[in-house]
Amino acid sequence: MTAVASAEHTAGAYDGVVPDEAWRDEVRRLATERDAVILAHNYQIPEIQDIAHHTGDSLALSRIAATSEASTIVFCGVHFMAETAKILSPDKTVLIPDARAGCSLADSIDANQLRAWKAEHPGAVVVSYVNTTAEVKAETDICCTSSNAVEVVASIPADREVLFLPDMFLGAHVKRETGRDNLHVWAGECHVHAGINGTELAERAAALPDAELFIHPECGCATSALYLAGEGAVASERVKILSTGGMLDEAKETKSRSVLVATEVGMLHQLRKAAPGVDFRPVNDRASCRYMKMITPGALLRSLREGTDEVNVDANIAERARGAVQRMVEIGRPGGGE
Ligand code: SF4
Repeated sequence: MTAVASAEHTAGAYDGVVPDEAWRDEVRRLATERDAVILAHNYQIPEIQDIAHHTGDSLALSRIAATSEASTIVFCGVHFMAETAKILSPDKTVLIPDARAGCSLADSIDANQLRAWKAEHPGAVVVSYVNTTAEVKAETDICCTSSNAVEVVASIPADREVLFLPDMFLGAHVKRETGRDNLHVWAGECHVHAGINGTELAERAAALPDAELFIHPECGCATSALYLAGEGAVASERVKILSTGGMLDEAKETKSRSVLVATEVGMLHQLRKAAPGVDFRPVNDRASCRYMKMITPGALLRSLREGTDEVNVDANIAERARGAVQRMVEIGRPGGGE
């Protein structure tokens, strides 16, 4: 279905649907009727997270999708995540409630650009973060998550050039950790994470001197956080660079009573549920992904009633992409992606 057709479907009957008790009952009834499992990413609105059968990061949800006995997966997240679920579960029907839910980071490189980059570096190993389209994954040697990116790159022989894409902040983190000179980083970024900057982080950290800092490595402030720790401005043990899945694990363990969180604000809902006694605060409360928020209560209802928007991946592309995703799962602790 095209984006325009999707937009026309969403308008009208499903506008203004309120996530009340009747909506919850209807969503669950339709999911059972359709033999569907509802998966919600941590950046979804709280009502969608709460109605889903499973909530988590993109990789964890794809794994659940692959092992679920349901014949239909309704992926409440962005398009590349639903594609990854389809790559790992080719025989299942995969639906996304609004196919227009894209990702500025995944859109920062397409397959043609990657092929041209590879031609400039013959023999280089291509490592792609999971926030990429199926076509880009098909041109990739190994996918990675933010949890295992360092291990994936470290597993490549030191004399091989590496092309790392698409996120420059995660790439800078990997380059720093591996100390590798032959790692080339694509200059892509997510507009939401890049907007969480070091100045704001330094101000918030100074105002809450006892707070821990949970920082996603895609954030524009990740480098600043490590710099602040290196300079002694923030105690290094206060700074935790974590995937969204890692944040949830750490939330259950932390002894700190307050935590500053640098990632998309939807993550706060799961953190507060995981550790109700901890005061979680966003570094930037405007860090909201408009693509994630396209999955509205009305869009989910439409998806379950009408079986839309179906996500398909060309079989040849899916097979090549699957190899890169499977190599990711074999190296280190993949943990979670975004
Ligand atoms: S928060 Fe950024 S990386 Fe995540 S889905 Fe939105 S645009 Fe993509």
